[in-house]
Amino acid sequence: MASLQPARGTHDLLPEDFRRHARVIDIARETASLYGFAPIATPIFEFTEVFQRTLGDTSDIVTKEMYTFTDKGGEQVTLRPEGTAGVARALISNGLSQHLPLKYFYAGPMFRYERPQKGRYRQFHQLGAEALGYAGPDVDAELILMSARLWRALGLDGLRLELNSLGTAASRQAYRALLVEYFGDHRASLDEDSQRRLGQNPLRILDSKNPEMQALIAGAPSLTDHLDEESAAHFAQLRATLEAAGVDYRVNPRLVRGLDYYSRTVFEWLTDRLGAQAAVCSGGRYDGLVEQLGGRPTPAIGWALGMERLVELVQDSAPPPPAPHAYLVPLGGAAEQAALALAEALRDELGELRLVTHCGGGSLKSAMKKADRSGAELALILGEEELRQGVVVVKPLRREGEQQGMERGALVGRLRECIQARRA
Ligand code: ATP
Ligand code: MG
Repeated sequence: MASLQPARGTHDLLPEDFRRHARVIDIARETASLYGFAPIATPIFEFTEVFQRTLGDTSDIVTKEMYTFTDKGGEQVTLRPEGTAGVARALISNGLSQHLPLKYFYAGPMFRYERPQKGRYRQFHQLGAEALGYAGPDVDAELILMSARLWRALGLDGLRLELNSLGTAASRQAYRALLVEYFGDHRASLDEDSQRRLGQNPLRILDSKNPEMQALIAGAPSLTDHLDEESAAHFAQLRATLEAAGVDYRVNPRLVRGLDYYSRTVFEWLTDRLGAQAAVCSGGRYDGLVEQLGGRPTPAIGWALGMERLVELVQDSAPPPPAPHAYLVPLGGAAEQAALALAEALRDELGELRLVTHCGGGSLKSAMKKADRSGAELALILGEEELRQGVVVVKPLRREGEQQGMERGALVGRLRECIQARRA
């Protein structure tokens, strides 16, 4: 074994991290449900074809980042690098096209073989929302408004919205030719990446982060000026709707997004607080995707956000888990058996009871230390003598008070009081 470290680019979510993640997911799921998005989960791996057919042969994900392997049955499968292709596949596999339109919300791990750094991992987590069977631009605006509401619900400010329209596949084809001509005239000034992209996918040159390329890119023809009429109208209406709803945004004509499946609306929410990993949430319209997978033409739009980046931005830590109401300490073999049965009976009777049973034996002194450290309100002690008498010793741990032997009925009453008090 290489070492006992987790594999490069992966990390453990210990309880505190887990709580922060879970809180974000809960708030997002709740927010999405207020807009009519239903939670779903698709498999973590799919046939490789699902991604290959949709994300684009020249996309970074397909060319460099997929975790692909042949399973024992000889099937080529891939750990999902993103969520949208799986949702589209699920729509087709489950015959859901007849129930369109549909709105889905998902959360889960994604896998990309990337160079790990802060905010960029090989296993990371996304939340996503997809609206299928909607041509927009009303739903485009609503998805963006929903994300903005989520930032507010999380107490997050300072995220900037950038917006662009990629037009239809046909109008992009014409624009592509203009780009090839422009960048072809400046071939000598292109960096290596851009030279490669010029032949394969010239739009991606606009996405280059190389500072030396920026002046050249700034002089390139702008996609916004070459939109087809319908896409231009769609974009104008989206912008007007966002303005009417008071959402600030900037049109970034260079925003092209890395995946081939997008058409028309694309957007990103960006932060200045995470260095190079500025994109927190990204999305766009993918009107051709379902058809590309073999389904009926289905206009659709969605976004996905990176949990790790978002959690990093959300300052307040999630509240700690509530302390137990009681900590039950059995003393001796016979008491241990009886204690576990008693604990189950108490849980049956008091649904909200948070009860930790002391397991692992040891002295009364060390057990009481653990009881105290658990934060419990009460210690419940059950020894051989108590067992014979049919009582449990109840000892307050957080406030003054005598310890007291109690029969079952009185014990339940005392625990009920304790639950009430903690609730208040
Ligand atoms: P980037 O430009 O940062 O590589 P991307 O365009 O590849 O992002 P998307 O495929 O749109 O990202 O995924 C949606 C969101 O998922 C991103 O905005 C980002 O917050 C997050 N994300 C993407 N890749 C990673 C990764 N390797 N590790 C952590 N988060 C990621
Ligand atoms: Mg990427």
